[in-house]
Amino acid sequence: MTLVHDPRIDDARNRTMREVLDKLPPLAGVKFGKREGVGPCPKCGGNDRFSINLKSGVYNCRSCGGGDHIRLVQLVLDCTFMEAIEVLEGERGAEIDPAERERRRKAQEEQRKKDKADEARYRAWAIRDAVSIWQAGEPFRGTLAEDYLAFRVPDFELLPHTFKCFRFIPDLPYVKRIKRRNHTLYSGPVLVAAVQAPDGMMRAVHRTWIDLDQPSGKAQIFAPDGEQLPSKVVRGSKQGGAIRLTGNACGSSLVSGEGIETTLTALVGGVLPGASYWAGVDLGNMSGKRIGGKFSDEPDMDGGPSFVPPCSVSDFWLIKDGDSEPRQTQAQLTACAKRAMRINPGLSAYIVPSVPGGDLNNMIKRPGEQ
Ligand SMILES: [Zn+2]
Repeated sequence: MTLVHDPRIDDARNRTMREVLDKLPPLAGVKFGKREGVGPCPKCGGNDRFSINLKSGVYNCRSCGGGDHIRLVQLVLDCTFMEAIEVLEGERGAEIDPAERERRRKAQEEQRKKDKADEARYRAWAIRDAVSIWQAGEPFRGTLAEDYLAFRVPDFELLPHTFKCFRFIPDLPYVKRIKRRNHTLYSGPVLVAAVQAPDGMMRAVHRTWIDLDQPSGKAQIFAPDGEQLPSKVVRGSKQGGAIRLTGNACGSSLVSGEGIETTLTALVGGVLPGASYWAGVDLGNMSGKRIGGKFSDEPDMDGGPSFVPPCSVSDFWLIKDGDSEPRQTQAQLTACAKRAMRINPGLSAYIVPSVPGGDLNNMIKRPGEQ
């Protein structure tokens, strides 16, 4: 038997997600924006478990997994791979001519280049914006931003550190882009924290809008449709960065929580001499891309930048925030720990729960110690 390569497979692979969606029946309930569509899964339902990324050309369902645009045809039409190829490219023998194939390949390459250039331009602009926000900030000590941290972190006022990573802005607008227009939804005092990239450059700022009249100390901010929005927002490019609260991680121990408050709580209870305390900005930045679904703890080692301790660090303590969803938090911190240990085989990583007002010494008893 001779196996002849079917050119329709290459044609189908060279299609974009947009072209494929045009060939499929409309996906019920899936709402499309510029970059992605989100809604119920065509196979298993739900509300927002299913998403399609138009740029990267992949889809994902948090319940039944994901794949590329050919796999999407299989999912939607419940058919085999070759049946999906037939839906996209017609019956065998009806293949497109080589000139058309070349035209499509070139068009795709052009589109990829354009997307990359657009992304780089947008990132550069966001970084410039972050730097100007930082430059507008005042020294942090003696301001409402210090009051906010004292309100959120027990015994914060006992810490002697200068916290050069923090600044205060008395009045900063909260701007959100809705339907291609910028809307100022709130304005008020802000704690600004510098997010430093692995090379030490500041490429993003983390902002917390403060309202000490609220039980959380954070401002309540709402979209025009009434949806509550996060009072903490990063501006710039946080990729692999961290908020370096104390130390330059030249010592052997690095302590990192997802948020500023969690990491500061560990610092207040700290007993690790010479340890640095860096907040990982958010769980996504700490875990990086993962292989598998929402609860996977397997890091995608080729999945782009994420937070990794500098190579001087030999003990990496990950503080687990009690407020976050436990299973997903554990998965994301485990992925962060696994990645760090794979990159630096001499490193040991430990995940320990945050205990507000607790002694870090008790929190971080090494495995086997009593
Ligand atoms: Zn599904």
